[in-house]
Amino acid sequence: MSLSEFDLIDRYFRGCGAKRTDVRVGVGDDAAILECPAGAELVAAVDSLVDGVHFPQGSPAASVGHRALAVNLSDLAAMGARPAWALLALTLPQADESWLSEFAAGLAALARAHDVALVGGDTTSGPLSVTVQLLGHVPRSAALLRSGGRAGDAVFVSGTPGDAAAGLAIEQGRLAAAAEPAAYLRERFLYPAPRVALGECLRRYASGCIDVSDGLLADAGKLARASGCGLEITYGEVPVSEALLGAVGEERARELALTGGDDYELCFSVRPAQVARLLAEVPPQRWGYTRIGTLRESPGADVLRDGAVMSLSHSGYEHFT
Ligand code: ADP
Ligand code: MG
Repeated sequence: MSLSEFDLIDRYFRGCGAKRTDVRVGVGDDAAILECPAGAELVAAVDSLVDGVHFPQGSPAASVGHRALAVNLSDLAAMGARPAWALLALTLPQADESWLSEFAAGLAALARAHDVALVGGDTTSGPLSVTVQLLGHVPRSAALLRSGGRAGDAVFVSGTPGDAAAGLAIEQGRLAAAAEPAAYLRERFLYPAPRVALGECLRRYASGCIDVSDGLLADAGKLARASGCGLEITYGEVPVSEALLGAVGEERARELALTGGDDYELCFSVRPAQVARLLAEVPPQRWGYTRIGTLRESPGADVLRDGAVMSLSHSGYEHFT
């Protein structure tokens, strides 16, 4: 490496992200020292992105930095937690300074937007892979869990799932679309917007929550299973963006919304008695979420179309190959 490891860390990662007064010791010592608020529980998540597996080879470096943090922000959002501190384990084939500065800028911008400080990490040489560990906190016993749902609870999803899967397909040349929807959908894959504020807000309303990373149907099914129930989703209620509709038509748009992946939206359950309060106090038009179904006693996850159970393949990926 032309750049020493020390210089690399110093140039790109010291002071990266937000400045926080609860960071007693950050980048530069052997470990970070962080002060958790009194009465709070620590919430921790870690996710690795491997080149060519979790993002296409040759992805913009800023997107890799953004997504490495975004996937973890989404996990903390699903817990109703407030993110605070991140650690970055970076494996690089070489110290490419233009790649590193774009990567760090992508990571830092999203970190600042969510008041997250980068407090440490590790730098090694090898095939490109990025691991971010994210720490945050939540008031004691207030976290949202996958297991909190109950039969009869209403099920909601934020945003418009399916966009990112279409964006990835466009990025990889498996799907063609007009310039404007294509740009929007690619952006949704490259720079997902994790629903951190919504997650924190939902602590007062939701019974259970999960983030949608593997496809809405699969992840809503996980929420239901963890809650000891099953799930019915109404096909016609699954929200899809205008861009996705324009790019692939209604049939494939709904199927992608149900099975796509990489959405980083929230899927959550709400007790029937809390639904009116949720809709009044957290206006769906402002926050961007939609009711898609209901938890039920009998296990399994079904999509109902005109009252009949639809059969869906569980991967949107194959529809473009
Ligand atoms: P050690 O030998 O103790 O592991 P390092 O030289 O790996 O120390 O790291 C020195 C300091 O730089 C530590 O505070 C570590 O947390 C931080 N650090 C190393 N790599 C990164 C990185 N990619 N991003 C942020 N901080 C890093
Ligand atoms: Mg180290």
